[in-house]
Amino acid sequence: MNEFSINTKVYFGNDSLQKLSEIKNKRVMIVCDKFIETSGMAEKIVGKLYNCNTVIFSDIVPDPPVEIIAQGMQILKSVNAQIIIALGGGSSIDAAKAIKEYSKKLMNNEMQIEDFIAIPTTSGTGSEVTEYAVITNKAEGLKYALADKSLLPTIAILDPSLVTSVPKSITADTGMDVLTHALEAYVANGANDFTDALAEKAITLVFEYLPISYENGDNILAREKVHNASCIAGIAFNAAGLGITHSLAHAIGGKLHVPHGRSNAIILPLVIEYNADIKKDTFNKEYTIAAKKYQKIAKLLDLPASNVNIGVNSLIKAIRDLQRKLNIPTTFKSSVAERDVSESTKSDILNAAVKDICTKANPRKTDIDDLSAIFDKVIG
Ligand code: NAD
Repeated sequence: MNEFSINTKVYFGNDSLQKLSEIKNKRVMIVCDKFIETSGMAEKIVGKLYNCNTVIFSDIVPDPPVEIIAQGMQILKSVNAQIIIALGGGSSIDAAKAIKEYSKKLMNNEMQIEDFIAIPTTSGTGSEVTEYAVITNKAEGLKYALADKSLLPTIAILDPSLVTSVPKSITADTGMDVLTHALEAYVANGANDFTDALAEKAITLVFEYLPISYENGDNILAREKVHNASCIAGIAFNAAGLGITHSLAHAIGGKLHVPHGRSNAIILPLVIEYNADIKKDTFNKEYTIAAKKYQKIAKLLDLPASNVNIGVNSLIKAIRDLQRKLNIPTTFKSSVAERDVSESTKSDILNAAVKDICTKANPRKTDIDDLSAIFDKVIG
Protein backbone atom coordinates (compact mmCIF):
# COMPACT_ATOMS: atom_id res chain seq x y z
CA MET A 1 0.00 0.00 0.00
CA ASN A 2 1.31 3.45 -0.90
CA GLU A 3 0.43 6.79 0.58
CA PHE A 4 0.73 10.34 -0.68
CA SER A 5 -0.33 13.29 1.45
CA ILE A 6 0.34 16.99 1.74
CA ASN A 7 0.13 17.97 5.37
CA THR A 8 1.03 21.64 5.09
CA LYS A 9 -1.65 24.16 4.13
CA VAL A 10 -0.17 26.30 1.34
CA TYR A 11 -1.32 29.89 0.81
CA PHE A 12 0.11 31.56 -2.28
CA GLY A 13 -0.12 34.69 -4.38
CA ASN A 14 0.03 38.42 -3.84
CA ASP A 15 -2.29 38.74 -0.88
CA SER A 16 -1.26 35.50 0.86
CA LEU A 17 0.34 37.28 3.83
CA GLN A 18 -3.22 38.28 4.80
CA LYS A 19 -3.48 34.80 6.34
CA LEU A 20 -1.36 36.19 9.19
CA SER A 21 -4.05 38.69 10.20
CA GLU A 22 -5.98 35.73 11.66
CA ILE A 23 -3.32 35.45 14.39
CA LYS A 24 -4.64 37.33 17.42
CA ASN A 25 -3.47 37.71 21.02
CA LYS A 26 -0.65 35.14 20.76
CA ARG A 27 2.97 34.82 21.85
CA VAL A 28 4.94 34.68 18.60
CA MET A 29 8.60 33.97 17.81
CA ILE A 30 9.93 35.00 14.38
CA VAL A 31 13.11 33.19 13.26
CA CYS A 32 15.09 34.92 10.51
CA ASP A 33 18.52 36.29 9.58
CA LYS A 34 19.94 39.82 9.92
CA PHE A 35 19.18 40.73 6.30
CA ILE A 36 15.51 39.81 6.71
CA GLU A 37 15.31 41.94 9.85
CA THR A 38 17.09 45.02 8.47
CA SER A 39 15.27 44.85 5.10
CA GLY A 40 11.96 45.48 6.89
CA MET A 41 10.49 42.07 5.97
CA ALA A 42 10.24 40.96 9.60
CA GLU A 43 8.51 44.24 10.45
CA LYS A 44 6.05 43.66 7.60
CA ILE A 45 5.11 40.32 9.16
CA VAL A 46 4.77 41.81 12.66
CA GLY A 47 2.46 44.45 11.17
CA LYS A 48 0.02 41.76 10.03
CA LEU A 49 -0.35 40.18 13.50
CA TYR A 50 -3.08 41.44 15.84
CA ASN A 51 -2.20 42.31 19.43
CA CYS A 52 0.54 39.69 19.61
CA ASN A 53 3.58 39.59 21.87
CA THR A 54 6.31 39.06 19.25
CA VAL A 55 10.02 38.35 19.61
CA ILE A 56 12.35 38.40 16.60
CA PHE A 57 15.34 36.01 16.73
CA SER A 58 17.48 37.20 13.81
CA ASP A 59 20.80 35.43 14.39
CA ILE A 60 20.46 32.75 11.71
CA VAL A 61 23.34 32.45 9.23
CA PRO A 62 23.62 30.36 6.02
CA ASP A 63 24.06 26.65 6.76
CA PRO A 64 22.90 27.18 10.36
CA PRO A 65 25.23 25.64 12.99
CA VAL A 66 24.06 23.81 16.10
CA GLU A 67 25.31 26.63 18.38
CA ILE A 68 22.76 29.04 16.89
CA ILE A 69 20.03 26.45 17.22
CA ALA A 70 20.90 26.25 20.93
CA GLN A 71 20.59 30.04 21.29
CA GLY A 72 17.21 29.92 19.53
CA MET A 73 16.05 27.24 21.96
CA GLN A 74 16.80 29.55 24.92
CA ILE A 75 14.70 32.30 23.34
CA LEU A 76 11.85 29.93 22.53
CA LYS A 77 11.82 28.74 26.12
CA SER A 78 11.82 32.26 27.58
CA VAL A 79 9.06 33.44 25.22
CA ASN A 80 7.03 30.21 25.54
CA ALA A 81 5.78 30.94 22.04
CA GLN A 82 2.48 29.60 20.76
CA ILE A 83 3.33 30.37 17.13
CA ILE A 84 6.71 30.09 15.39
CA ILE A 85 7.14 31.98 12.13
CA ALA A 86 10.17 30.92 10.08
CA LEU A 87 10.88 33.79 7.69
CA GLY A 88 13.74 33.55 5.20
CA GLY A 89 15.64 31.16 2.99
CA GLY A 90 16.14 27.48 3.71
CA SER A 91 18.66 28.28 6.43
CA SER A 92 16.12 30.21 8.54
CA ILE A 93 13.32 27.73 7.96
CA ASP A 94 15.53 24.74 8.78
CA ALA A 95 16.93 26.48 11.86
CA ALA A 96 13.41 27.22 13.12
CA LYS A 97 12.42 23.59 12.55
CA ALA A 98 15.43 22.38 14.55
CA ILE A 99 14.78 24.92 17.35
CA LYS A 100 11.22 23.63 17.67
CA GLU A 101 12.13 19.97 17.41
CA TYR A 102 15.01 19.95 19.89
CA SER A 103 13.04 22.14 22.35
CA LYS A 104 10.13 19.73 22.18
CA LYS A 105 12.43 16.85 23.10
CA LEU A 106 14.14 18.80 25.87
CA MET A 107 10.92 20.07 27.41
CA ASN A 108 9.16 16.69 27.28
CA ASN A 109 6.48 18.02 24.96
CA GLU A 110 5.49 20.74 27.44
CA MET A 111 5.64 23.44 24.75
CA GLN A 112 2.43 25.04 23.60
CA ILE A 113 3.22 25.47 19.89
CA GLU A 114 -0.06 25.69 17.99
CA ASP A 115 1.29 26.55 14.54
CA PHE A 116 4.60 26.50 12.74
CA ILE A 117 4.38 28.92 9.80
CA ALA A 118 7.07 28.93 7.11
CA ILE A 119 7.38 31.97 4.86
CA PRO A 120 10.17 31.43 2.29
CA THR A 121 12.01 34.50 0.99
CA THR A 122 14.11 32.55 -1.52
CA SER A 123 12.69 30.27 -4.20
CA GLY A 124 14.83 27.21 -3.74
CA THR A 125 14.71 24.74 -0.92
CA GLY A 126 10.99 23.93 -0.62
CA SER A 127 11.70 23.57 3.11
CA GLU A 128 8.27 25.13 3.80
CA VAL A 129 6.68 21.79 2.84
CA THR A 130 9.32 19.22 3.78
CA GLU A 131 9.96 17.06 6.81
CA TYR A 132 13.71 17.83 6.65
CA ALA A 133 15.99 20.34 8.36
CA VAL A 134 19.63 20.59 7.27
CA ILE A 135 21.91 21.59 10.13
CA THR A 136 25.68 22.11 10.19
CA ASN A 137 28.17 20.76 12.71
CA LYS A 138 30.96 23.28 12.14
CA ALA A 139 33.52 21.49 14.30
CA GLU A 140 33.26 18.35 12.19
CA GLY A 141 32.54 20.15 8.91
CA LEU A 142 29.38 18.11 8.49
CA LYS A 143 25.94 19.03 7.21
CA TYR A 144 23.30 16.56 8.27
CA ALA A 145 19.57 16.32 7.70
CA LEU A 146 17.08 15.81 10.49
CA ALA A 147 14.09 13.95 9.09
CA ASP A 148 10.76 13.56 10.82
CA LYS A 149 7.14 14.19 9.95
CA SER A 150 6.89 16.48 12.98
CA LEU A 151 9.25 18.90 11.17
CA LEU A 152 6.55 19.66 8.59
CA PRO A 153 5.30 23.24 8.89
CA THR A 154 1.56 23.47 9.49
CA ILE A 155 1.25 26.48 7.18
CA ALA A 156 3.36 27.74 4.26
CA ILE A 157 2.88 31.22 2.79
CA LEU A 158 4.28 31.95 -0.67
CA ASP A 159 4.23 35.69 -1.29
CA PRO A 160 6.17 36.57 -4.48
CA SER A 161 6.74 40.17 -3.32
CA LEU A 162 9.16 38.79 -0.69
CA VAL A 163 11.51 37.38 -3.34
CA THR A 164 11.89 40.35 -5.70
CA SER A 165 14.88 41.55 -3.67
CA VAL A 166 16.85 38.30 -4.09
CA PRO A 167 20.08 39.23 -5.94
CA LYS A 168 20.97 37.64 -9.27
CA SER A 169 23.51 35.09 -8.05
CA ILE A 170 21.19 33.83 -5.27
CA THR A 171 18.27 33.73 -7.75
CA ALA A 172 20.43 31.54 -9.99
CA ASP A 173 21.68 29.21 -7.25
CA THR A 174 18.34 28.74 -5.53
CA GLY A 175 16.52 28.34 -8.87
CA MET A 176 18.90 25.54 -9.82
CA ASP A 177 18.17 23.99 -6.41
CA VAL A 178 14.50 23.80 -7.46
CA LEU A 179 15.42 22.11 -10.74
CA THR A 180 17.66 19.63 -8.91
CA HIS A 181 14.89 18.77 -6.42
CA ALA A 182 12.44 18.12 -9.23
CA LEU A 183 14.82 16.12 -11.44
CA GLU A 184 16.16 14.03 -8.58
CA ALA A 185 12.64 13.36 -7.25
CA TYR A 186 11.52 12.36 -10.76
CA VAL A 187 13.95 9.43 -10.93
CA ALA A 188 14.31 8.68 -7.19
CA ASN A 189 13.43 5.25 -5.83
CA GLY A 190 10.32 6.64 -4.13
CA ALA A 191 8.93 8.33 -7.29
CA ASN A 192 5.30 7.58 -8.18
CA ASP A 193 2.54 9.04 -10.39
CA PHE A 194 1.76 11.75 -7.85
CA THR A 195 5.33 12.94 -7.34
CA ASP A 196 6.04 12.67 -11.10
CA ALA A 197 3.16 15.03 -11.87
CA LEU A 198 4.54 17.59 -9.43
CA ALA A 199 8.14 17.20 -10.60
CA GLU A 200 7.15 17.62 -14.25
CA LYS A 201 5.29 20.84 -13.47
CA ALA A 202 8.17 22.24 -11.42
CA ILE A 203 10.69 21.42 -14.19
CA THR A 204 8.70 23.18 -16.92
CA LEU A 205 8.11 26.22 -14.69
CA VAL A 206 11.84 26.52 -13.94
CA PHE A 207 12.91 26.29 -17.59
CA GLU A 208 10.31 28.87 -18.60
CA TYR A 209 10.51 31.38 -15.77
CA LEU A 210 13.92 31.13 -14.06
CA PRO A 211 15.82 32.92 -16.86
CA ILE A 212 13.20 35.72 -16.75
CA SER A 213 13.39 36.11 -12.98
CA TYR A 214 17.19 36.11 -13.22
CA GLU A 215 17.24 38.81 -15.92
CA ASN A 216 14.47 40.91 -14.40
CA GLY A 217 14.03 40.38 -10.68
CA ASP A 218 11.05 42.76 -10.61
CA ASN A 219 9.01 40.58 -12.95
CA ILE A 220 6.44 39.50 -10.37
CA LEU A 221 4.83 36.85 -12.60
CA ALA A 222 8.17 35.11 -13.19
CA ARG A 223 9.03 35.40 -9.49
CA GLU A 224 5.67 33.92 -8.52
CA LYS A 225 6.05 31.00 -10.94
CA VAL A 226 9.55 30.08 -9.67
CA HIS A 227 8.36 30.52 -6.07
CA ASN A 228 5.48 28.11 -6.71
CA ALA A 229 7.83 25.72 -8.55
CA SER A 230 10.08 25.65 -5.50
CA CYS A 231 7.19 24.60 -3.26
CA ILE A 232 5.84 22.07 -5.80
CA ALA A 233 9.30 20.48 -6.14
CA GLY A 234 9.51 20.40 -2.32
CA ILE A 235 6.27 18.40 -2.12
CA ALA A 236 7.61 16.03 -4.81
CA PHE A 237 10.97 15.30 -3.19
CA ASN A 238 9.51 15.12 0.29
CA ALA A 239 7.55 12.08 -0.88
CA ALA A 240 9.89 10.62 -3.53
CA GLY A 241 13.32 11.26 -2.05
CA LEU A 242 16.36 12.84 -3.74
CA GLY A 243 19.66 11.41 -4.95
CA ILE A 244 23.43 11.67 -4.98
CA THR A 245 23.56 15.21 -6.37
CA HIS A 246 22.26 16.19 -2.95
CA SER A 247 24.47 13.74 -1.07
CA LEU A 248 27.57 15.32 -2.62
CA ALA A 249 26.20 18.88 -2.29
CA HIS A 250 25.57 18.38 1.45
CA ALA A 251 29.08 16.95 1.98
CA ILE A 252 30.77 19.66 -0.12
CA GLY A 253 28.71 22.38 1.60
CA GLY A 254 29.76 21.14 5.05
CA LYS A 255 33.47 21.07 4.22
CA LEU A 256 33.98 23.70 1.53
CA HIS A 257 31.10 26.12 2.23
CA VAL A 258 29.76 26.45 -1.32
CA PRO A 259 26.11 27.65 -1.45
CA HIS A 260 23.82 24.61 -1.58
CA GLY A 261 22.04 25.49 -4.85
CA ARG A 262 25.31 26.23 -6.62
CA SER A 263 26.76 22.86 -5.60
CA ASN A 264 23.64 21.11 -6.89
CA ALA A 265 23.78 23.01 -10.17
CA ILE A 266 27.40 22.02 -10.79
CA ILE A 267 26.92 18.34 -9.90
CA LEU A 268 23.48 17.67 -11.48
CA PRO A 269 24.47 17.16 -15.17
CA LEU A 270 27.11 14.59 -14.20
CA VAL A 271 24.69 12.69 -12.00
CA ILE A 272 22.12 12.57 -14.82
CA GLU A 273 24.79 11.04 -17.07
CA TYR A 274 25.74 8.59 -14.30
CA ASN A 275 22.13 7.59 -13.49
CA ALA A 276 21.18 7.22 -17.16
CA ASP A 277 24.05 4.74 -17.42
CA ILE A 278 23.86 4.48 -21.20
CA LYS A 279 26.12 1.67 -22.37
CA LYS A 280 28.55 2.46 -25.15
CA ASP A 281 27.67 -0.90 -26.75
CA THR A 282 25.15 0.08 -29.45
CA PHE A 283 23.76 -3.47 -29.62
CA ASN A 284 22.70 -3.26 -26.02
CA LYS A 285 19.28 -1.63 -26.19
CA GLU A 286 18.50 -2.03 -22.49
CA TYR A 287 17.96 1.39 -20.97
CA THR A 288 17.58 2.19 -17.28
CA ILE A 289 14.26 3.51 -15.99
CA ALA A 290 16.05 6.75 -15.11
CA ALA A 291 17.33 7.15 -18.70
CA LYS A 292 13.81 6.65 -20.07
CA LYS A 293 12.43 9.19 -17.62
CA TYR A 294 15.08 11.75 -18.58
CA GLN A 295 14.02 11.24 -22.22
CA LYS A 296 10.42 11.89 -21.15
CA ILE A 297 11.45 15.19 -19.59
CA ALA A 298 13.36 16.12 -22.75
CA LYS A 299 10.16 15.52 -24.74
CA LEU A 300 8.16 17.59 -22.27
CA LEU A 301 10.62 20.45 -22.78
CA ASP A 302 10.38 20.11 -26.57
CA LEU A 303 14.01 19.07 -26.86
CA PRO A 304 15.31 16.55 -29.42
CA ALA A 305 14.44 13.13 -27.95
CA SER A 306 13.83 10.70 -30.80
CA ASN A 307 15.53 7.97 -28.78
CA VAL A 308 16.61 7.57 -25.17
CA ASN A 309 20.24 8.43 -25.83
CA ILE A 310 19.37 11.63 -27.70
CA GLY A 311 16.82 12.56 -25.03
CA VAL A 312 19.29 12.19 -22.16
CA ASN A 313 21.95 14.19 -23.99
CA SER A 314 19.46 16.93 -24.90
CA LEU A 315 18.41 17.26 -21.27
CA ILE A 316 22.02 17.53 -20.10
CA LYS A 317 22.71 20.14 -22.80
CA ALA A 318 19.59 22.12 -21.83
CA ILE A 319 20.74 22.20 -18.19
CA ARG A 320 24.21 23.35 -19.27
CA ASP A 321 22.62 26.07 -21.45
CA LEU A 322 20.47 27.20 -18.53
CA GLN A 323 23.56 27.29 -16.28
CA ARG A 324 25.34 29.46 -18.86
CA LYS A 325 22.39 31.90 -18.99
CA LEU A 326 22.55 32.13 -15.18
CA ASN A 327 26.34 32.55 -15.09
CA ILE A 328 26.84 29.40 -13.04
CA PRO A 329 30.21 27.71 -13.54
CA THR A 330 30.46 24.04 -14.57
CA THR A 331 33.04 23.12 -11.89
CA PHE A 332 33.96 24.22 -8.36
CA LYS A 333 37.23 25.73 -9.56
CA SER A 334 36.09 29.35 -9.09
CA SER A 335 34.43 28.68 -5.68
CA VAL A 336 37.03 26.48 -3.99
CA ALA A 337 40.79 26.98 -3.72
CA GLU A 338 42.87 23.96 -4.78
CA ARG A 339 44.73 23.92 -1.45
CA ASP A 340 41.40 23.39 0.39
CA VAL A 341 40.83 20.05 -1.32
CA SER A 342 43.42 17.81 0.31
CA GLU A 343 43.18 14.02 0.07
CA SER A 344 41.78 13.86 3.61
CA THR A 345 39.13 16.51 2.82
CA LYS A 346 38.13 14.55 -0.27
CA SER A 347 37.94 11.37 1.74
CA ASP A 348 35.77 13.07 4.40
CA ILE A 349 33.46 14.41 1.69
CA LEU A 350 33.05 11.04 0.00
CA ASN A 351 32.47 9.24 3.31
CA ALA A 352 29.82 11.77 4.31
CA ALA A 353 28.18 11.60 0.86
CA VAL A 354 27.93 7.83 0.79
CA LYS A 355 26.22 7.85 4.22
CA ASP A 356 23.95 10.81 3.37
CA ILE A 357 20.21 10.18 3.70
CA CYS A 358 19.75 11.01 -0.03
CA THR A 359 22.08 8.27 -1.30
CA LYS A 360 19.56 5.54 -0.52
CA ALA A 361 16.96 7.14 -2.77
CA ASN A 362 19.27 7.40 -5.81
CA PRO A 363 18.05 5.21 -8.68
CA ARG A 364 21.49 3.77 -9.42
CA LYS A 365 23.16 1.92 -6.56
CA THR A 366 26.23 3.96 -5.73
CA ASP A 367 29.52 3.29 -4.01
CA ILE A 368 32.39 5.48 -2.93
CA ASP A 369 34.37 4.88 -6.17
CA ASP A 370 31.49 6.14 -8.29
CA LEU A 371 31.12 9.21 -6.06
CA SER A 372 34.87 9.77 -6.28
CA ALA A 373 34.75 9.74 -10.10
CA ILE A 374 31.96 12.36 -10.11
CA PHE A 375 33.77 14.44 -7.45
CA ASP A 376 37.00 14.48 -9.52
CA LYS A 377 35.13 15.82 -12.54
CA VAL A 378 33.27 18.59 -10.68
CA ILE A 379 36.15 19.77 -8.56
CA GLY A 380 37.92 20.91 -11.72
P1 NAD B 1 19.89 30.80 2.71
O1 NAD B 1 18.67 30.66 3.53
O2 NAD B 1 21.17 30.34 3.29
O3 NAD B 1 20.02 32.31 2.24
C1 NAD B 1 21.07 32.70 1.36
C2 NAD B 1 21.23 34.21 1.41
O4 NAD B 1 20.08 34.82 0.81
C3 NAD B 1 21.33 34.77 2.83
O5 NAD B 1 22.39 35.68 2.88
C4 NAD B 1 19.99 35.50 3.01
O6 NAD B 1 20.07 36.61 3.88
C5 NAD B 1 19.67 35.93 1.59
N1 NAD B 1 18.26 36.18 1.36
C6 NAD B 1 17.20 35.43 1.76
N2 NAD B 1 16.06 35.97 1.31
C7 NAD B 1 16.39 37.10 0.63
C8 NAD B 1 15.65 38.09 -0.05
N3 NAD B 1 14.31 38.02 -0.17
N4 NAD B 1 16.33 39.11 -0.65
C9 NAD B 1 17.68 39.17 -0.58
N5 NAD B 1 18.44 38.26 0.05
C10 NAD B 1 17.79 37.23 0.65
O7 NAD B 1 19.74 30.06 1.28
P2 NAD B 1 18.76 28.95 0.73
O8 NAD B 1 19.35 28.47 -0.53
O9 NAD B 1 17.35 29.42 0.72
O10 NAD B 1 18.85 27.79 1.83
C11 NAD B 1 19.97 26.93 1.87
C12 NAD B 1 19.88 25.99 3.06
O11 NAD B 1 18.70 25.18 2.98
C13 NAD B 1 21.06 25.02 3.07
O12 NAD B 1 21.49 24.81 4.39
C14 NAD B 1 20.46 23.77 2.48
O13 NAD B 1 21.18 22.61 2.84
C15 NAD B 1 19.07 23.81 3.07
N6 NAD B 1 18.07 23.00 2.34
C16 NAD B 1 17.03 22.50 3.07
C17 NAD B 1 16.06 21.71 2.47
C18 NAD B 1 14.93 21.14 3.28
O14 NAD B 1 14.10 20.40 2.78
N7 NAD B 1 14.85 21.46 4.55
C19 NAD B 1 16.12 21.48 1.09
C20 NAD B 1 17.16 22.02 0.36
C21 NAD B 1 18.13 22.79 1.00
